[in-house]
Amino acid sequence: MQNGLKESIIKEVERLKPDLIEICKTIHRNPEVKFKEFKAVEVLTAFLKKNDFGVTQGIGGLETAFNAVFKGAEKDGPTISLLAEYDALPQIGHACGHNIVCTASVGAAVALKNVAHDSLGKIVVVGTPAEEGGGGKITLIKKGIFKDVDLAMMVHPSNKTRMVRLMLAVVEIRFIFHGKSAHAAAYPYEGINALDGVILTFNNINALRQQLKDDVRIHGIITEGGYAPNIIPDRASAQFYVRALEERYFKKVVEKVKECARGASIATGTKIDIKMEEFTYRPFKPNYTLAGIFRENLSFIDIKEDPGDERGDMGSSDIGNLSHIIPTIHADISICDDKIVCHSPDFRDAALSEKGMKGMIIGAKGLALTAFDIFRSPDKMDMIRKEFEGK
Ligand SMILES: [Zn+2]
Ligand SMILES: [Zn+2]
Repeated sequence: MQNGLKESIIKEVERLKPDLIEICKTIHRNPEVKFKEFKAVEVLTAFLKKNDFGVTQGIGGLETAFNAVFKGAEKDGPTISLLAEYDALPQIGHACGHNIVCTASVGAAVALKNVAHDSLGKIVVVGTPAEEGGGGKITLIKKGIFKDVDLAMMVHPSNKTRMVRLMLAVVEIRFIFHGKSAHAAAYPYEGINALDGVILTFNNINALRQQLKDDVRIHGIITEGGYAPNIIPDRASAQFYVRALEERYFKKVVEKVKECARGASIATGTKIDIKMEEFTYRPFKPNYTLAGIFRENLSFIDIKEDPGDERGDMGSSDIGNLSHIIPTIHADISICDDKIVCHSPDFRDAALSEKGMKGMIIGAKGLALTAFDIFRSPDKMDMIRKEFEGK
């Protein structure tokens, strides 16, 4: 009986496939950066409304956030959220494949509702803007959007299929150095070189690296470096991301990086402003019980997990913050071979390719079947919750 319904869910995703591919490709061809994802939201919410979901746009004070709710017949059942990311990257478009993330979640929600409405609690598709550096989910958490939600699920395209990949905490820091302009040849001794403040910050951080643990990542760009070689720059700035796996150590590293910039300021006689982004992406807290249910459902549709270390190829995401609030899965689905890495033009092309569309459909099926299992077996939800609470 249960497997009969599972087969029906799989068939329903297949029936929806042409619509889902159209949505996925439309979003890919219209890349929109953080907080500007109007077209993506329009396309996704139109499909959800057409399929009887109650849509509210602009939740949590974010214009391009939405939720889409369907209440099933099981009044006491859990509330499961399917997350939809849809922001693109500046310049290179959908090189993180978020067109696949959102379409898989929407496809799963609609297929579940069409086939299994009698067995469901509440399904909420949450449209979460600005994953790429805008912390959309962090704002939504603060505004209470996940208050009555029992768990959150999403898939992300990747070069491997993996149920659990850890993620690093990350924060953005800007250093602005203030000096004094002067003619660089005639009166260099009258100048204070703000660009040297930036360059020494990079050098100090490069010296620091040897003393840090392996999982730390510090990477920056120069955002202002002067106007002409014959003017001593009176202002220069740099923007860094600092990342680490373990939260307490992460905070220590952030302080060390700030000290590198302060040291550069002393050495050059410049003044420094340090501006920290007001939010931090937290490391991802996995839920192995939920990941195990997802794995079983992928094997039900003949998809195997690739071998690999959960500490391999770690990035960061605002889902890290959500994973500390409710049990969460962020499963990777392979859409290309492992020489292609995300945030590259080749990955962007993969997110529109036939393999990309195949990955999106696999993701939709995996999400729908996993949510269905949890709706049908309260003991599964209990086990997920127990692990989350550390019992
Ligand atoms: Zn990304
Ligand atoms: Zn991404």
